[in-house]
Amino acid sequence: MASVTALEPGGTTTSGRPDPMVPRPFRVRRNRRDTTDTCTLELEPADGVPLPWHPGQFTMLHAFGIGEAPISISGDPSRSDRLEHTIRNVGSVTAALVAAEPGTVLGVRGPFGSGWDVGAARGGDVVFVAGGIGLAPLRPAILEVVADRASYDRVVLLYGARTPEDILFADDLRAWTERDGIDVEVTVDNGQYAWRGRVGLVTHLITRAGFDGARTLALVCGPEVMMRYAAQALSDRGVPPARLRLSMERNMKCGVGLCGHCQLRELFLCVDGPVLGYDRLAPLIFRAEL
Ligand SMILES: Cc1cc2nc3c(=O)[nH]c(=O)nc-3n(C[C@H](O)[C@H](O)[C@H](O)COP(=O)(O)OP(=O)(O)OC[C@H]3O[C@@H](n4cnc5c(N)ncnc54)[C@H](O)[C@@H]3O)c2cc1C
Repeated sequence: MASVTALEPGGTTTSGRPDPMVPRPFRVRRNRRDTTDTCTLELEPADGVPLPWHPGQFTMLHAFGIGEAPISISGDPSRSDRLEHTIRNVGSVTAALVAAEPGTVLGVRGPFGSGWDVGAARGGDVVFVAGGIGLAPLRPAILEVVADRASYDRVVLLYGARTPEDILFADDLRAWTERDGIDVEVTVDNGQYAWRGRVGLVTHLITRAGFDGARTLALVCGPEVMMRYAAQALSDRGVPPARLRLSMERNMKCGVGLCGHCQLRELFLCVDGPVLGYDRLAPLIFRAEL
């Protein structure tokens, strides 16, 4: 993809605040291939001005001349000078993003939306439940816990992928288990003869995982059907609805609550979400027509 060098940093509104509709130029530092269809882009601001963000938030990532897509931030929250996004190639915009070579300039709007607020779990247990690329939005919250590990009691990560080849962040999974005292359980839908690990649904791991539901903050990200079953299983283990948080995906365009593409009854998921408590979501996500 060609570099765009003439673009100035994002414009401002009449109030003097940056205009959230104007993308800021970020340069690709590194593009790491994670799996056959997924890459992690490491971006740095072309103007050198850091972009603070919270785990769970997303940006609108703009491939110039093609379009933009909402993509969660997957990197280390202590590094506001670097922005990582883990992207699966499913269509025109994501194909352009995963093909972006070092030096390419992309546009970034945001960060947008609500965060996981994993710090609310200090003094208790934390359970992360991830399905497929859903591990990417959870990774910053896991890194936040790792950086302050002593403040949390039991920390559990339950992760399901389609096949062993689709497992993301294998080095992290090893370090979190061996170095950081996180109880990591990985399962795949389809494992060939060389796979020695678990086969089956990630939601089944919830039943016997070691955590105390009443003292747990549970953070869940993955396909919506998986999140529904996970939320049910976590509720059955005694996790209170307000301490059970899901990250919701809907088509999004503006990112600032104007266009209505991501509306879920009274909620605009780009500003009220994407991370929402099960106390607010339960009446909505079990209704197929919403
Ligand atoms: C808050 C949020 C965070 C996201 N984070 C990530 C991330 O970290 N990594 C990542 O790879 N993807 C993420 N996505 C999904 C990503 O935005 C879509 O895959 C992307 O917009 C597809 O654009 P495209 O032009 O490549 O494909 P298109 O040609 O537009 O679509 C290809 C296929 O993907 C479906 N699709 C399009 N947009 C979405 C969407 N927003 N949600 C679900 N399905 C969609 C279409 O219905 C179609 O089936 C996130 C989405 C949201 C709303």
